Amino acid sequence: MTRVFNFSAGPAALPEPVLRQAAEEMLDWHGSGMSVMEMSHRGKEFIAIHAEAEALLRKLLAVPANYKVLFMQGGAIGENAIVPLNMLRGRAKADYIDTGEWSKKSIKEAQKYCSVNVAASAKDSGYTRIPPRDSWKLDPDAAYVHITGNETIGGVEYHWTPDVGAVPLVSDMSSNILSRAIDVSKYGLIYGGAQKNIGPAGLTIVIVRDDLIGQALPICPSAFDYKIVADNDSMYNTPPTYAIYIAGLVFKWIEMQGGVSAMEAHNRKKAAVLYDYLDSTRFYTCPVAREDRSLMNVPFRLPDERLDEPFLKGAQARGMVQLKGHRSVGGMRASIYNAMPIDGVRALVVYMKEFEAQHA
Ligand SMILES: *Cc1c(COP(=O)(O)O)cnc(C)c1O
Repeated sequence: MTRVFNFSAGPAALPEPVLRQAAEEMLDWHGSGMSVMEMSHRGKEFIAIHAEAEALLRKLLAVPANYKVLFMQGGAIGENAIVPLNMLRGRAKADYIDTGEWSKKSIKEAQKYCSVNVAASAKDSGYTRIPPRDSWKLDPDAAYVHITGNETIGGVEYHWTPDVGAVPLVSDMSSNILSRAIDVSKYGLIYGGAQKNIGPAGLTIVIVRDDLIGQALPICPSAFDYKIVADNDSMYNTPPTYAIYIAGLVFKWIEMQGGVSAMEAHNRKKAAVLYDYLDSTRFYTCPVAREDRSLMNVPFRLPDERLDEPFLKGAQARGMVQLKGHRSVGGMRASIYNAMPIDGVRALVVYMKEFEAQHA
């Protein structure tokens, strides 16, 4: 068996020890005689798996007691609708910060439910930076302010938490949740699909301050009403049980690596290996402003598009896959989430240098 270095933006690589444990437990979880996939979500085994996953996530992110942790479905794109359905709370307007492809999607969806004020946009910079806070034109009557914590496609990330006063801050952290320490109390709501940094697709994480729930629009589907989901311990309908189990194993793995701060230190080191090289050469270019570069998704270009295919082929031959950039922006993108070992990034840089020497 050969495992590749998988630079996919999502669904993405998972820690190998997690996959091994899941394989070992596949047919018989802890003497239950069943796979987790076959368990009733109301049975004591799964309730324990679910409770442990939630407790670990709370511990890793130091989630304050007045926040609910919800395990939902529908992905971040589903949440783009679920957020306004729940968070408008009698208001008709929301502020959005436009930093790229994912914010644009969030904005478009929210416009179905409310009047969206794009309080700042990075469009003028070609989405290569986060608009500085002092340029934001926030509406004091907005129900919330929405940001995209990490733009998975553009490789632009907030390295600071915006102060938006008393208006709740909502962040789509699909691609950087658990990659770095955050102060949850500065947010009203954090959401993200699991398939980048947490586990299999199908699970969506929502962390929401409890005073913000309970005022969903009447048209909000019951299964997506945060209050109903919270009151039923995320089991109003059948939750994505297997994905929650794997997420729990990943949380345990992060804890064993030393927690989120240790993960962050490791991620900074990993990202530096790649960015330092990108900055040292004129062959490859990274379009993103230095201070806003993502630790998770590193976009870069070759000097000529005709080199893209040979570059990808050579990478594949060396066991490095999924380096092609998103179709909307082109070029290359290396996604280096928590589960990507530093050796994978080093191997990529060695290959990039070789390729440069051959084609420069
Ligand atoms: C991947 C991603 C999404 C889309 O998530 P789905 O699970 O496909 O709905 C949304 N936002 C960000 C920031 C992402 O990285």
